[in-house]
Amino acid sequence: MDVIIVGAGIGGLTLALCLYGAGIRARVFEASPEIRPLGVGINVLPHASRELGRLGLEPALTRHAVLTREAAFFNRFGQLIHREPLGRDAGYDAPQYSIHRGDLQRVLLDAWIERAGQAALTTGWRCTGFTQDEHGVGVTFDDPRSGALLAPQRADVVIACDGLHSAIRKQLHPAEGAPRYSGVNMWRGVTRWPPILSGATMVRAGWLSHGKMVIYPIRDDIDGSGRQLVNWVAEIETAKHRQRDWTRPGELGDFIGAFEDWHFDWLDVPALIRAADSVLEFPMVDQDPLPWWTQGRVTLLGDAAHPMVPRGSNGAGQAILDARCLADLLAGGNEPQAALRAYEAQRLAATTQVVLTNRRNPPDAIIREVHERSGDKPFARIEDIISHEELARMSEDYKRVAGLDHAALGSAPTPHSNSGA
Ligand SMILES: Cc1cc2nc3c(=O)[nH]c(=O)nc-3n(C[C@H](O)[C@H](O)[C@H](O)COP(=O)(O)OP(=O)(O)OC[C@H]3O[C@@H](n4cnc5c(N)ncnc54)[C@H](O)[C@@H]3O)c2cc1C
Repeated sequence: MDVIIVGAGIGGLTLALCLYGAGIRARVFEASPEIRPLGVGINVLPHASRELGRLGLEPALTRHAVLTREAAFFNRFGQLIHREPLGRDAGYDAPQYSIHRGDLQRVLLDAWIERAGQAALTTGWRCTGFTQDEHGVGVTFDDPRSGALLAPQRADVVIACDGLHSAIRKQLHPAEGAPRYSGVNMWRGVTRWPPILSGATMVRAGWLSHGKMVIYPIRDDIDGSGRQLVNWVAEIETAKHRQRDWTRPGELGDFIGAFEDWHFDWLDVPALIRAADSVLEFPMVDQDPLPWWTQGRVTLLGDAAHPMVPRGSNGAGQAILDARCLADLLAGGNEPQAALRAYEAQRLAATTQVVLTNRRNPPDAIIREVHERSGDKPFARIEDIISHEELARMSEDYKRVAGLDHAALGSAPTPHSNSGA
């Protein structure tokens, strides 16, 4: 079987490696002429990192990533609401990686080229569409710099891993509208900074109406003096937004006002923001879940199939889970069309749940709850606002939807306490 993968992002490269492991030939076509370390931080949770481990990537990822050990939730006054262990510290058999997206893509890419050879990756080829008959699929490409048509390619199966603005998704669902804006705009950056809290803590603080921050380190000891590369995201409800472009620069003045008085004993937030290497701006968008992904020998994977708002650290993870599922089914000896249909049957409902839960009740719903119950005021004791059991239950509910609960993964939770920041 010959497979064409459109897009050398996280999902496309993971699929390529999974297929390679199963002895299936794949060729990857990427629109960008050159793969550059674009984006900022990304998280890979244990359900997905264990799949990367099965691909032999744990040593390389461990060299680049921070192995995140805990989540901590605060209100906008810097008071601790809830903390819980993550990754191996939470009892999973695989870590949580917090990593620069460019580092993650590079690890996948290096492994792909080392295993399949340079010829298995073609860059600077932008997919424009496909045609298919009962014997195979023809894929059309152009050069994104000149617009010149390139030689059409043929394969038995084509998998669209071309992200949020997928050309193949548009062909399959031409009447679908533009990505749906969630009402929240984001500014993201990275800052070289000494370790915050445990040095492996994922912080979520504040709420969207006034301004919320997500902060976590993505590279350890970047300068020999122990500083880390710290990823941060400022999220604010606002009607103002522009089309998502992963490289659009952001203006400090557009959002720093919301965080100007966030001087906590565990972190000076405005100082962290001001010291950033660079700031990017993008809107929080997703798409309504599609009713189907597959047409004959063509299907969608990752963001092309189920773009989701980045509130559960699950975008990359769900793409990785898609890749493993699809590769296993293609390797299972079924007709390609049957394998693609089985993949859709397994993954569409599961990812639809994640897309919808990320809108309504992502993990940070914990701080929304406290924000509302406390009337957005400082509290004397968190127990007066909400019990630890309720907080833990909210967190577990999300994990179940995302396929990250211990029961699903066959691991055992680590007992933990919620005291002290
Ligand atoms: C440049 C960039 C920066 C990002 N930064 C972040 C970030 O900082 N944090 C975060 O959480 N998520 C980020 N993401 C999104 C994140 O990578 C995905 O949500 C997630 O990993 C799912 O991966 P995916 O492979 O489905 O999509 P993506 O990782 O988006 O990969 C899609 C790939 O397809 C390529 N492509 C697009 N159109 C075509 C076409 N017509 N023909 C051929 N190739 C095409 C793209 O260039 C890209 O390499 C970023 C995505 C991109 C493309």
